[in-house]
Amino acid sequence: MLTVLRRIAQEIDLAGDLMSALNIVARCVREAMQVHLCRIYLVDHKQKCYVLMAFDNNDKLPVPSSSVALDDSLLGLVSQRVAPVAHLNLVGNDLSEKLAFLGVPIVHHQQVLGVIAVEEANHRLFTEDEEAFLVTLAAQVAGTVVHAKEMGFVFKEGAKPLEIKCLQGISAVSGVAIGTAKVVYPPADLDAVPDRSTNNIDEELQRFKDALDLAQKDIVQLQQKIEPVLPLEEQVLFSAYLQVLSSAELKDDVDEEIQKGQWAEGALRNVIKKHMMQFALMEDLYLRERAEDILALGQRILYHLQERSLEPTQYPAKTILIGEKLTAADLADVPEGALCGVISYSGSHNSHVAILARAFNIPTIMSATGLAVTELEAKAVILDGYHGCLYVEPSMQLSKNYERWAKEEKELDRALQGLSNLPSQTVDGRAVSLLLNAGLMRDVGLSLNKAAEGIGLFRTEMSFMDKAKFPTETEQREVYRQVLQAFSPRPVTMRTLDIGGDKALPYLPIQEENPFLGWRGIRFTLDHPDIFLMQLRALLSASEHLENLQILFPMITSVEEVDEALQLLSRAYEEVKAQGLNVTMPKVGVMLEVPAAIFQIKALAERVDFFSVGSNDLTQYILAVDRNNTRVCSRFDVLHPAVLRTLQYAVERAHAYHKPISLCGELASDAVAAVLLLGLGFDQLSMNAGILLRIKWIIRTIPYARASALVQEVLALNNVSLIRTEVEKVLDEAGLGGLIRAGKS
Ligand code: PEP
Ligand code: MG
Repeated sequence: MLTVLRRIAQEIDLAGDLMSALNIVARCVREAMQVHLCRIYLVDHKQKCYVLMAFDNNDKLPVPSSSVALDDSLLGLVSQRVAPVAHLNLVGNDLSEKLAFLGVPIVHHQQVLGVIAVEEANHRLFTEDEEAFLVTLAAQVAGTVVHAKEMGFVFKEGAKPLEIKCLQGISAVSGVAIGTAKVVYPPADLDAVPDRSTNNIDEELQRFKDALDLAQKDIVQLQQKIEPVLPLEEQVLFSAYLQVLSSAELKDDVDEEIQKGQWAEGALRNVIKKHMMQFALMEDLYLRERAEDILALGQRILYHLQERSLEPTQYPAKTILIGEKLTAADLADVPEGALCGVISYSGSHNSHVAILARAFNIPTIMSATGLAVTELEAKAVILDGYHGCLYVEPSMQLSKNYERWAKEEKELDRALQGLSNLPSQTVDGRAVSLLLNAGLMRDVGLSLNKAAEGIGLFRTEMSFMDKAKFPTETEQREVYRQVLQAFSPRPVTMRTLDIGGDKALPYLPIQEENPFLGWRGIRFTLDHPDIFLMQLRALLSASEHLENLQILFPMITSVEEVDEALQLLSRAYEEVKAQGLNVTMPKVGVMLEVPAAIFQIKALAERVDFFSVGSNDLTQYILAVDRNNTRVCSRFDVLHPAVLRTLQYAVERAHAYHKPISLCGELASDAVAAVLLLGLGFDQLSMNAGILLRIKWIIRTIPYARASALVQEVLALNNVSLIRTEVEKVLDEAGLGGLIRAGKS
């Protein structure tokens, strides 16, 4: 039964909402107890009745009634007694047919919230074991119901379960944001056009007319250009296009939509979709395929509408930015101070949009699903970055609760400021340096007055990515010097250029079948000593008289790569010295992010001064899960036992050779993971500025001995969600619940 209970607990955790969770429970109970029927009722005190929230039965039984009076004999008895009730009933007059009933209350703080009831025909009374199973489950369900009630949704008028409009996705940056949805979309993509109402119908009609005229002109021009080389039978295609564009039907339909108050882009989208559907339903294959032509024409008109749109994008004061596929540039477009939350329908926790949002500490959800992006424009929304959900047009109750939690979060952050100047040390004396991940000067500014003891990872590729060509040695030196100076005398670990994978340079497109297994990081720079030497010289010369530079090589797979990189570093050093600059040789480290490197720590330790674990890539390579692929990102389990064991091995090996080891992937920004990283014995953790004080709170609260013991406990569990639950329990017990859910406790 324990295994079944655990499985149900996990499934409840994964359910998006209360109704799904209760339906899962009903199904699992029926299967586990092998009964005919399981019903779950919740008490609606306003309507004074039980509302049937979920049931699972074998097909022969009728659907139970959706609400039952509070004094219903058996359910009422369960509530009255606040205890399980078992009952054996005769069915009709047939003495051989009996119906066994078992109902257990769902109780919270002595109040009955509902009842889980099972029934089985021809059954002896239920056993004590079965009763205990149901009681344990009811206690778990109580937690889920209380959480849903706090969120303000259980019932709506008329004692029916409340429908909640919400989006669900992967939590990429925790926190709560309350604001207004702003949908951004790529140009000329009809699917991504949001609904938007207009007050200026005449202007929209005119905009549409102009765009239509321009689209017609395009086609005429194309036709003239291509006609001489196109066979006659294909030329009719252009005439057909022109016919569609000049048809009264298209124009009238769009005009009619605009008259109803839809803006021109939205009206066009609706009409094109309608026309496409008509073609798609046709029997004739040729005509069916014309749906694609209609779409192409629609995109063309849309392009002109967008081209001629004079209005610059307006962002609400509290923007929750939403898009099918947001880019870092979309985030940068929002005026400073207005961006409160980010929702992308694609990408994962480790996509660079998510990494950027984390650097700015903006609550973020990736891979969102549940509602079309077109339905969200200008809607009031609440983003819960802890649970990865977005509530659309939330109820008053829900808004009130979240406003309270958001206020509490601010209070928590303010209170944590008091930790800034205190050492990052556990109560039993273990020091863990907290460092900063950065890649832009803006991140560095953010962190200066925070408690970072240095920069643990400066992603130099960021300043290569927003250029039109490779930056010169002088340009690079300036960027590095600024950062080194800003942090001096605190150490700054500059990682050499790490492009490839999902980090492409606009001026150096690399086409590969498997980019994450391809020409990445050190593999690229060793193949381009010209570019590598230039960067190494820029780094060394930027450090003159500062002496706080450390250099880190990314994507190391073999010892030979380190030897080659060190040779080039020595050469760059000699060249800089020859220029008369007074520089010292920096400490050098390698990233442990390819599993192969973990198994060569001895040889690597003979060559370098420190190690830094890149948990983003290490996880992707251990689990064989592309860190950016939406389809598999739910399998990107940073707490996977195999990842934890690899980390344990890496720390143990590095320490065996007396080398410090840090972790600079996103794992260090996850409160649950941070407890384990402390227990695993990492010397340093490097993370985003926004999370640093929260992690310091953990270090200063949870004793090292407790964290190490916890690592041993969770490694015996072999199950990611159980591991997470165990660590969350420890955080809760230590009074750190505010780090794993909205609010401060
Ligand atoms: C990592 O892989 O964990 C890492 C820090 O590097 P990046 O995310 O830049 O690949
Ligand atoms: Mg990496």
